[in-house]
Amino acid sequence: MKRILTFCTIILMLISSFGCILGLDLDPMSLEEMTAATEIITQDVYWTRFGKTYHMFEDCQALQGSTVFTGTVEDAFDAGHKYLCRFCASRAGIDNTEIRIEEE
Ligand SMILES: [Zn+2]
Repeated sequence: MKRILTFCTIILMLISSFGCILGLDLDPMSLEEMTAATEIITQDVYWTRFGKTYHMFEDCQALQGSTVFTGTVEDAFDAGHKYLCRFCASRAGIDNTEIRIEEE
């Protein structure tokens, strides 16, 4: 029984790493999460080419020195940036649990 569990774990790990390589979205956002974010953050947001976060402030410390893209929250999600930067979240006073906020 333990062997089967180990085997399943390995298969799952393989699937998820292949998914990442292929660019599959293994962590899709729920409609509730998208709605909460787009209702609360109506301004344009900022993100960089890499990473998973987006920002509410163009002068955020995490954006320094990077090429910054801008657009709506939906644009950021489409680009794979699903987590609100924790610096921007605290600066804007956002602690809504339905919005995905970057973990420390
Ligand atoms: Zn930020």
